[in-house]
Amino acid sequence: MTSPGIAVSVDRVVKRYGSVTALHGVSLDIRENEFFTLLGPSGCGKTTLLRAIAGFEDVTEGHIRLKGKDLVDQPPFKRPVNTVFQQYALFPHMSVTENVMFGLLRKGWNRQEAERRVRDVLELVQLSDFAARKPGQLSGGQQQRVALARALAPRPEVLLLDEPLSALDLKLRQAVRMELKAIQRETGIAFIFVTHDQEEALTMSDRIAVMSSGHVQQVGPPREIYEAPINRFVADFIGETNLLDVTVEAVNNGMAKVLLPGNRSFECPAAAVDARGPGHLSVRPERISICAEAAGDLIATVTGHTYLGTDNQLHVKLVDGEVMSIRLQNTESTLLPKAGDVIGLNLEADAARLLAD
Ligand code: ADP
Ligand code: MG
Repeated sequence: MTSPGIAVSVDRVVKRYGSVTALHGVSLDIRENEFFTLLGPSGCGKTTLLRAIAGFEDVTEGHIRLKGKDLVDQPPFKRPVNTVFQQYALFPHMSVTENVMFGLLRKGWNRQEAERRVRDVLELVQLSDFAARKPGQLSGGQQQRVALARALAPRPEVLLLDEPLSALDLKLRQAVRMELKAIQRETGIAFIFVTHDQEEALTMSDRIAVMSSGHVQQVGPPREIYEAPINRFVADFIGETNLLDVTVEAVNNGMAKVLLPGNRSFECPAAAVDARGPGHLSVRPERISICAEAAGDLIATVTGHTYLGTDNQLHVKLVDGEVMSIRLQNTESTLLPKAGDVIGLNLEADAARLLAD
């Protein structure tokens, strides 16, 4: 059974290709009307999972349910899901209208209803003025929107998108992100969006599932994934972070007491439970401030800095040789310590986390 409000339920799905296991028992609930993102490096199993939901791949074990109905034995064309692929493969000799209409007629829509539906979806993706053009007469971003209109036209209950923005250049990609999110809101259906781009995931998603090597590592809203990563993989993959070797003295009720390099003690939230001994602390570079040596949680020697426009990145080395980076906002009054200076570093307690591994 699937609970109300769940659009797609992925239940302990295993997928093997011969000796390669692409998915190791993945479980996820994707909510109705949610912009849900599968994020992870190339080869982690994102496309395999999307294709399994679409029905293009049989699963080796497990179940996929759409609004409570088991999909595993349903062929792709019977599933109320549709996919936008990385290569959108529009028919070059057909107009925008014909490209979008084609699938509807094949599904048995009558022409009059199909024409009305095509007009509506072209309006939704703001292509009404381009309806008569051929794909070759459109920009990359417009072609992408035709592919989106085509996938939305048959009113799928869930839309799957496999790296749909990766063919666009950076500027366009950034503009299309917001459009895509707005279209998802307007249609009110769940979008399952695949990307390896963490910035794309952070800016567009209601929730993100971070994957690596066929496993889901963490699921949560963007802020939680960024600010409260559970393990080293997630902390490192999402944004920039400093991973410090620490000695864990105690973990109680989600709070850890650790010894930092240099042996000062420090308390912070913990993703790890019941750990003692060596551990890893994640601290985001923008959540560290500099102070006098005696007042710091850490003592560091400055090795240099990088000018980044809005920020300066300060590079430092700790007593145990670990290197860290610190982001300091670039205000006119920013006085940067120089290479060779010994400084103190303060970690914001709620911004540092003891990781699970
Ligand atoms: P992603 O989309 O995250 O880059 P994929 O889902 O495409 O990753 O691939 C996951 C793993 O499964 C990879 O190791 C890939 O080589 C393997 N794989 C994918 N499709 C096949 C296939 N048809 N045959 C064999 N191995 C495959
Ligand atoms: Mg892929």
